Amino acid sequence: MGVEVRLQAPVTSVTHDAVSLQDGTIIPAETTVWTAGVRGDPRAGRWGLPTARGGRVAVLPTLQVPGHPEVYVIGDLAYFEDAAGHPLPQVAPVAIQQGVAAAQNIARQMAGQAPVPFQYKDPGSMATIGRNAAVVRLGRWTFTGFPAWVLWLGVHLIRLIGFRNRLLVLINWAWDYFLYERAIRLILPASRPVFSEGTGF
Ligand SMILES: Cc1cc2nc3c(=O)[nH]c(=O)nc-3n(C[C@H](O)[C@H](O)[C@H](O)COP(=O)(O)OP(=O)(O)OC[C@H]3O[C@@H](n4cnc5c(N)ncnc54)[C@H](O)[C@@H]3O)c2cc1C
Repeated sequence: MGVEVRLQAPVTSVTHDAVSLQDGTIIPAETTVWTAGVRGDPRAGRWGLPTARGGRVAVLPTLQVPGHPEVYVIGDLAYFEDAAGHPLPQVAPVAIQQGVAAAQNIARQMAGQAPVPFQYKDPGSMATIGRNAAVVRLGRWTFTGFPAWVLWLGVHLIRLIGFRNRLLVLINWAWDYFLYERAIRLILPASRPVFSEGTGF
C-alpha cells in the first residue's frame, strides 16, 4: 500500500468512515490517527478572554487573566510561556502544578498578599506506545522498551489518589495485559462526526 502525504490540507470533519478536507475531498478511512493537538474551548474567545495559539487563554505569570485578577486559567486552556519563551505543553503535570499554584495564589489574595509567578518543574515525560513498550525522558536520561513501560506503569499507579483507586486500576490493567482486552470501548453513533471544525473535537 502506498503512502501519500498531503500538505496544506486542513481537515474539516472526521466520521466513522471518512475524513473530509476543506477543499471538499473525502478520504474513506475507518481508522484515523489524529496528531494535530487539541484546541482550547472556543467559549474562552467568545467570552472576550485574550487567546493565543490553539485558542488557549494567554495568562499572566501568576496564571491570572490580564485585567481580571479574580480569574485564573490553568491546564490545557492556559497559554503560559516558560523562561525561554516556549509555551508549556498540554500535559497532566503542567495542569496539576498549575492547579496547586492557582490555589495557593487565591489563598494569598484572600490573605491580602500579592500572588506569585508560577514556575514549572519539569518532571520528565513518559508515554506508553504499546504492549511492554514505552518511552521515558528523565532529565538527561532517555530509555525505551520494557523497563520504560514498567516505570510508566509504576509512576501512573503511584500518582492515582487513594489505595482503592490504585488497586482497581492495577486489577483492570492486569486484566487487559493477560487477556489482551481493553476495559474501555467507545461506541459512537455512525451519523455523528467524531470531529468537526469549530468544536475542538
Ligand atoms: C488521549 C489523551 C492522552 C493523553 N495522555 C497524556 C499522558 O500520557 N500524559 C500526560 O501528561 N498528559 C496526557 N494527556 C493530556 C492530559 O490529559 C491533559 O493535559 C490534562 O488532563 C489537562 O488537565 P485540565 O484540568 O486542564 O483539563 P481536563 O483534564 O480536560 O479537565 C477539564 C474538565 O473540565 C470539564 N469541563 C469542560 N467544559 C466544562 C464546562 N463548560 N463546565 C464545567 N466543566 C467543564 C471537563 O469535563 C473536564 O473534567 C492526554 C490527553 C489525551 C486527550
